[in-house]
Amino acid sequence: MDYDTIVLDIEGTITPITFVKDVLFPYVSQGLDAFLDRNWGSADLESYVELLREQAQKDIDSGMKEAVVIPKEGTPEEIKAAIKKNIAWQMAADRKIGALKAFQGLMWKDGYAAGELRGEIYDDVIPLLKQWKSSGKPMYIYSSGSVPAQKLIVGYSDKGDLTEYFSGYFDTAVGLKIEAASYEKIAQEIGKNPSKILFVSDNIKEIQAAKQAGYQVVISERPGNAPLGPESKEFKIITSFEQLSQ
Ligand SMILES: [Mg+2]
Repeated sequence: MDYDTIVLDIEGTITPITFVKDVLFPYVSQGLDAFLDRNWGSADLESYVELLREQAQKDIDSGMKEAVVIPKEGTPEEIKAAIKKNIAWQMAADRKIGALKAFQGLMWKDGYAAGELRGEIYDDVIPLLKQWKSSGKPMYIYSSGSVPAQKLIVGYSDKGDLTEYFSGYFDTAVGLKIEAASYEKIAQEIGKNPSKILFVSDNIKEIQAAKQAGYQVVISERPGNAPLGPESKEFKIITSFEQLSQ
């Protein structure tokens, strides 16, 4: 394969697909009590709580009866209890709402910085990052997780700080990962011809979109990933980044 730039997906490609579900989400549910106690009274926490409060009010106003309101007045215990109930409700409903995402992001940032969380990166990825770097091939991340969350995973990884390898990060602000236009936009932004870019992902719809945009593509097949259907047969499939070694 003749490429000079690499765009990598995270989950299911360089990180186990279960990381978010088995590590990041439980960290929020299980660590919320301690987190609130530790940060109670800080202006930073209060601003994120305010976002949750405003969202809950919007939910109530739009007729969502099950929404959990967070009172402004009350004892710290009452307010904390409402926050916990609010977050538990939103997470159980798997809501992709800004206020919840922001709050989770705040907790993850705290957890990574405290050394309680570490991004999981497959062992076989590191030698290739080194190889690509030494041959002058810039590397980028494109993931549906937010750019700050991406930076935390690679910045506080179990293989150390990997941010030195990446020239840039893209999330769904550039467009959905299953749309060819998103890949065209990324190519434009990094100033490369799509035909010179290699995209690696576990998701066949993303692979097809990138291919449609003119990228070279490789499917990553990792333990726990969704099984690949027959439409994946026309693409190169790897089970380890070793197979990308040149
Ligand atoms: Mg993925």
